[in-house]
This record gives sequence, structure tokens and C-alpha cells, in this order.
Amino acid sequence: MPIWQLRAANSGQRAQTAVPNLTSDVRLLDCRSAVDKLAFLSPGSNPFTLGGMAMTPDSRIYVAGHRGMVGSAMWRQLEGQAVEKFYSSESPEYVIVAAAKVGGIKANDARPAEFLFQNLQIQNNLIQGAYRARVKKLLFLGSSCIYPKLAPQPLKEEYLLTGPLEETNQWYAIAKIAGIKLCQAYRRQYGCDFIGAMPTNLYGPNDHYDLETSHVLPALIRKFHEAKVTGAPVAVCWGTGLPLREFLYADDLARACVFLMQYYSEQQFINVGYGSDITIQELAELVRRIVGFAGGIVWDKSRPDGTPRKWMDSSRLFAMGWKPQIDLETGIRLAYEDFLKRFPS
Ligand code: GDP
Repeated sequence: MPIWQLRAANSGQRAQTAVPNLTSDVRLLDCRSAVDKLAFLSPGSNPFTLGGMAMTPDSRIYVAGHRGMVGSAMWRQLEGQAVEKFYSSESPEYVIVAAAKVGGIKANDARPAEFLFQNLQIQNNLIQGAYRARVKKLLFLGSSCIYPKLAPQPLKEEYLLTGPLEETNQWYAIAKIAGIKLCQAYRRQYGCDFIGAMPTNLYGPNDHYDLETSHVLPALIRKFHEAKVTGAPVAVCWGTGLPLREFLYADDLARACVFLMQYYSEQQFINVGYGSDITIQELAELVRRIVGFAGGIVWDKSRPDGTPRKWMDSSRLFAMGWKPQIDLETGIRLAYEDFLKRFPS
């Protein structure tokens, strides 16, 4: 039974929790259809009914401790439903799906269930919600890891699903491939103008610097900075340093997204790259120079290298007239400035 029919099962009364002191550790959520979901699970009874006041589709729900295990599970339960409520109340015309659970090589390897499940949930909610809300256009952002591990280089869009994925990030990749296909399916079946863009490795302001979960570029910025500040003789980097990676500054990706929203409307997703790649060793040398660390680099070969190379063929996008504006060295300098502002030592 569709969710919106189930709404009739609820009383329609407004129940609102008292929220005495909001701190940064609590979140308020307007959640229309969490009740509908419960009604679906146990028809005929509403487990949230209390003293005649039912939690209704318009209730404001307060989840205290949303970062804890139970609170975050509660939040996840309500969040998908909140997307639908958001679409119905805000009626956005254009949607860019940049929401995802992301992380570097170690995080992907260590948390396969989270990367697969959460990304599927996020994109399913957003894409289905956009369809129901008759959004005019949606852009879904994927990743270069959707391509087979040993695909020919540079990676052309048509290499999707032509070989096995890289083992460490296959979970994330499968979710992203499902997102691409979902957009294509909605275009095909319902005529939705949903497009997909596959960015290469990204970096820039507001990046994550957790050494266990981040991507290589923020990790190197932090490692070299800390080694410089503490006067350490060496900084330890992961793997052999031989893999190649391509890096695009986040603001360049943003410009590409706006460009695509204006000028692109095809079923085939499109690559968004920088145009060239470098080895991780070269990258480490560059970051070390920009940060100003004078010590050495040790390569911890017990850490995985991941995909040997993922250099995107962005010729379709370049042929449309889009080009990145921030070169790698400038971008790393800007990212390092942002790091220093956010984490003054
Ligand atoms: P990937 O592009 O999905 O493989 O993810 P990453 O950005 O995490 O890693 C890219 C490459 O950088 C891999 O070959 C890593 O082994 C290498 N690398 C070197 N040092 C580091 C580090 O400190 N952190 C991370 N995340 N990767 C590193």
C-alpha cells in the first residue's frame, strides 16, 4: 500500500515534544511519514499513541543523542521519510545529489556494509523523492571507482561494467552504479531528466582530515603539517606510492555541476576529471614542498595500494566547453590554507 494512503490511518492530531534546551548534539526533525511507516508495520495500531496524542505526519520529533548508537539508528529510521516530507513542503525544481557516505581506502575496506547500505538508502530516497515531487532536473554524483579495476586508461564512460571492481571500494562502487542505473531507469520509464556525473578524486576546503578514514590528499596535508610542527624526521605514507591518481578541486566540480545542469540532458552519465594524473609519490613530494616539511618520507607497504590507476577520459565534457580552472599546485595551496584556518596549531 502506498505511504500516502496509509496517512489516512492516523488521527491527524498534532503532537509536539517539548524541547527545553537544544544543544549541538540534538536535532529537530519534521517527519511526515515515520508514522505511516509504523502504521504499515502494524496496521490497526499506532505504537506512538500516548494519552490520546498520536505522533502525526506533521509532528516535530526530537532525537536527543543522535550521534550515539541508538539515537543514530533512530535518526536513520526517520531520515528517509523526512526526505519525502522535504520534497513535498519545499518543492525544489532542481536537485543535485552530492550526499553520500564517503571515505578513503581504509574506511571503504573496513566498513563494507555501511558504504553499501547507507549509499543505497541515501540515493534511493533522493531519486525516488525527486520523481514523486516532479523535480525538473536531477544530477546524481558518482565516482571514478565505478570503473573496473583494470580497465584501459583513460577511463571512458562506456567501460562501466566491463570487468571486476577493485576489492577495497567495490561496496561503494556498487551503490554508485545502482544510482547511475536508477537515474537511467527513471529517465527511460518515466521520462525524468535525471543525469549522472562521475567526478575523479576530489579535494578542497572543508575536507575530512581523519587519518584513518580520509582520502590521500587531506591525509598527506595533515601528516606533513604535523611532522613539520613536531619536528619529526619522517612522515609515513601508505602503500608503495606507485599508483596514479587524478585530482580535481571541489570548486571546479561545482562549476562542472552547474554547467551540466544547464547544458546536459542525456541518459549516458559523463566523466568530470582534471585531465591528467600523477603518482602518489609525486603527490607526496608536492604536498611536502607546499607544506614546507623538510624531513623524509617512509612508505608503509603493509597498507593497500588500491586501484593502480583511475585516470578519467573527460573528453566529452571538455568538448562541450568546460575546463577546470584550478591547477593542482594552486588547489593544494588553497586546501592547506583552509586546513590551517580550521585547525590552527
Ligand atoms: P582510493 O583513491 O580510493 O584508492 O583512496 P585513497 O585516496 O584513500 O588512496 C589513494 C592512494 O593513496 C592509495 O594508493 C593509498 O595507499 C595512498 N596513500 C598514501 N598515503 C596515504 C594516506 O595517508 N592516506 C590515504 N587514505 N591514502 C594514502
